[in-house]
Amino acid sequence: MTCQKCRGLMIEERQPELSPGTIIHRCINCGLILDPLLLKNRLNHLREKAAVLQAA
Ligand SMILES: [Zn+2]
Repeated sequence: MTCQKCRGLMIEERQPELSPGTIIHRCINCGLILDPLLLKNRLNHLREKAAVLQAA
């Protein structure tokens, strides 16, 4: 896997503190973290924003 930011090498890392079985991708070059949960939350946030815009 390649980092979106610096195109460095990303490694898989377990994050038992977040939730058991969670695996994130971390760039060993710049430290960028790709967390599936984080991505999901971000998508939900975008959806909420879209809903607010539609309501207005
Ligand atoms: Zn990077």
